Formats: sequence, structure tokens, C-alpha cells
Amino acid sequence: MTGGTVLIRQAMILTLDAGDRILESGDILIRCGVIEAVGTVAAEASAAADRVIEARGMLAVPGLVNAHMHSQSGTMAGFGDRLSHPAFMWLTQAHTSRRTPEEIRLAVLLCAAQMLQSGTTAAIDHFPGQRFTVAEMDTVLAAWAETGMRATLGMRFFDGAFSDIVPAGAGLPPELAAAAASVDILQPHPLEALREEMPEIVRRWHGHAGRIGVFPAPSNPDRCSDEALVFCAELADQHDLGIHTHLLETRAQAEIAARRYGTTTVEHLDRLGVLSGRWSCAHCIWLDDSDIARMAGHGVVAVHNPESNARIGAGRMRTPDLLGAGVPVALGTDGSGANDNLILQEAMRAAALLHRADLPDRTRWVSARDALRMATEGGARALRLEGRIGRLEPGFRADLALYRLDHPWWVPVNDPVAQLVFAETGAAVSHVLVDGRILVEDGRITSFDAAGALAEIRDRIASMKRRNADLFAVAEAIARAIP
Ligand SMILES: [Zn+2]
Repeated sequence: MTGGTVLIRQAMILTLDAGDRILESGDILIRCGVIEAVGTVAAEASAAADRVIEARGMLAVPGLVNAHMHSQSGTMAGFGDRLSHPAFMWLTQAHTSRRTPEEIRLAVLLCAAQMLQSGTTAAIDHFPGQRFTVAEMDTVLAAWAETGMRATLGMRFFDGAFSDIVPAGAGLPPELAAAAASVDILQPHPLEALREEMPEIVRRWHGHAGRIGVFPAPSNPDRCSDEALVFCAELADQHDLGIHTHLLETRAQAEIAARRYGTTTVEHLDRLGVLSGRWSCAHCIWLDDSDIARMAGHGVVAVHNPESNARIGAGRMRTPDLLGAGVPVALGTDGSGANDNLILQEAMRAAALLHRADLPDRTRWVSARDALRMATEGGARALRLEGRIGRLEPGFRADLALYRLDHPWWVPVNDPVAQLVFAETGAAVSHVLVDGRILVEDGRITSFDAAGALAEIRDRIASMKRRNADLFAVAEAIARAIP
């Protein structure tokens, strides 16, 4: 109910406000989707609330923000261990291509179910993996609207060659290269079409229901023409949008940039005049010191995906260096093909732990509070919703989760921030609200039929795989050729 009032009573409250206050017991009053009071709520306002949630024994936390995921990969958990990046990308193509509208919708519901049940309230969906149609974008955006989550769609495109995963010079036998070319799945999206389609999608959907956003989203700058990157920057300026992309995830991408631009991708974007605080960039692994300085100077958001990077061996983002330089850092899970669930607590934990063993200066370690800041304030910045989500403070949108403190890893409560990052798995989440609307209640999703969606995916997955048998054959051949 975004129109009424909700009162959350007697919760422990992790405000994440400017003073980082933790209230041992307080109330939260929500009116028309916005937090009106935190702590003590006037008796007359309490008495008039349309809905009361008794939250004694629960911890209220701002909803987490997953600043990089791919809904189309939601069905891929558990596949393909120890693959090269090209083999992984081809298997992803085989899994996610040629979907029907209903299959696109079901994959969104599957992802939303995982995120909502683990206390994530907002996400950037970098969609799809192939050339998109406007109808597909309508379908995926309608699905996000159906979930009740706050979601921004990154309109993922490439108008150039996908040269980092079709490595002609990587010893691919000619017949395999020909097979990869024959499946017709990595066709560039002509810029003339993008100039028509992207503004139309923005017009239809950006701002929908007060919680749906649309950003232009290069698949990767190296897979796009300079003209297309300039077009994204112009479109973003015109409509006050962000720009989302993958950036320097693999060593191969850094090498392609060096050959193509004669410099790094970040310096190239800067010289092109498009780099700005509108950008949120997933991975940011193969950066040099000058790239980090440029990103800090422009306020470019780096979206850290620690588990995905580890799972496919892409490398490690230099998180302590980026934080030290003042680069805003957000957190993502990436798609379920590269990281098998969308549980952001695990990404926070990985972000905090991955650097410790080889960083003797403990003052530079990513702390639990740093990781939580990435998953809240950093994510808000990536979605361009800074000051609107990420805190439990009057004036902020009422996006939050309640965690049951009777779960074993919360007994006793020693340090709510450290336990949220180092102990919580998402399983203690009891209630989730977005814009003051209750989407999860007593651990069950109430905003859509999650069980029905999961059952439908189980029924369909075999036929979805049969449909793409030709793509699976190419993917397997590439996995053999580039092990
Ligand atoms: Zn990704």
C-alpha cells in the first residue's frame, strides 16, 4: 500500500543515517511510501496507522541494492565449472537466447524471488545478452513492474564486434570459427535502430510507478562504436539517466582496448568526452592507477562483483585502492551463470574478505561497514537515487527489510553490522517493503506468485534447452577449443 500508512513497531533499527545510529528499539512510520518518522512516533499517528507490523525481536535494515545482475541468466545456477571466459559467455548465449515473452518474464520473477527473500529491494538488470527488440524490453520491464521491486533496466546493446569472446587469433580451428559465425546470435545492433528504439523505451518506462528506471547500457565499451557511446551520453544527459556497462572484466578486454584505442578504455572514454558520474561500471578489474584517478575525478561508480570474478577467474577488483582514491563503489552479484545466486549478503562478505590475506595494512581492509555501504549508499548512487534510498531516515523511500533476530547466527546480537555482513545469508529475512508496500511477509513473497513461477520454469527448461541445441553444440565446441 503506497497510499496509506504503515507502522513498524519496536524494531531494532540500523538507520545507516549520517550519524550511523543504531536504535535498540524504535518505531518507523511510513506514509505514502515515504519514511515519515524513525524512533519515536507520535501516539495519534501510531493509532491512525492503516497497517501495523509488530517487529519486536527483528532488525530493520535499508533494502540492499544489487547494482549488477542479468535477469536472463537467472536459470543458470550451477552450470559450467572451471570454464574460460569465452566458453562461459557462449554457454550463456546458449542458455539465454531466443526466449519467448513468457520465459523472459519468468526469469525476472525467479531473480526477484531470490532478491526479495534475502532482503534486496532494488536492482540494475543488464538485459539481454543478444540484440534486443522493443517488445522484449516492454516484456522485461512489465515483469519488473509486476514484482513490486525497484528496478532499473540497463538496455544492453553492442553495435560492434564481440571480439573478446570470438577470439579469431586464439587458435580457434577454422570450422569452429565458422560454426560460431553461423549461429547468427551475436549480430550487432545498428546504431540507426538504437537511435529510434532507446528513446522510445525511455519514454514508455522511465519513472514508471515511481520505481522503474531505464538506462542506456553498452554491453562493454569495447564492443561498441564511439558514435554509440556518444549517443548514450547524449541520451542520458537529455533524460537525466545513468549509463550502465561492463568495464574491463577480463585481461583480454584490456588488451583489445590497448590495440584498438592505443590507451586504456577509461582514458578513451574520457578523451571521447563521455565519462561522467552517470556511469556505473561492473567489474573494473583491469584498471591502472590513472584509470582509478579518472574514475574518482568524474565520480564514476565501480560496481564490484567479487563472487562472479572469483567464480570465473576474471581477477580481483582493487577495492582498497578504489575506496582509497574516493571512487564510489557499489555491489553486484552478476548473473546466476557467473555467480549462482543473487544473495547480496554473500557478495558483501566476499567484498570484505577477499583482500585481507595479502594486504598487511589492516587499516586498508574493506570493513563490514564499507561492504554494507557499497550495498546501500553505493547502489543508490549507481541507480541515481542517492538521498532517496539506502537509509532509514525521514524523507527516504520506505525500502527496507526486517530480519528475525531469533535465527541462530543472530544469537546473541553482538554487532548488527558485522553480523549482517559476516553471518547473515538472507535466510533470516521476514518482511520486505518497497515504497512502503509489503512484498514479503513472514518470509513469503506476497506481491506475485513466486511458487507458480518456479514451477513453470521447471516445466519449461528442457524445451528451452532443446530449442537452442545448435548453440549448445557451438558452446561445447568452444569450451573444448578454449578450455
Ligand atoms: Zn555482468
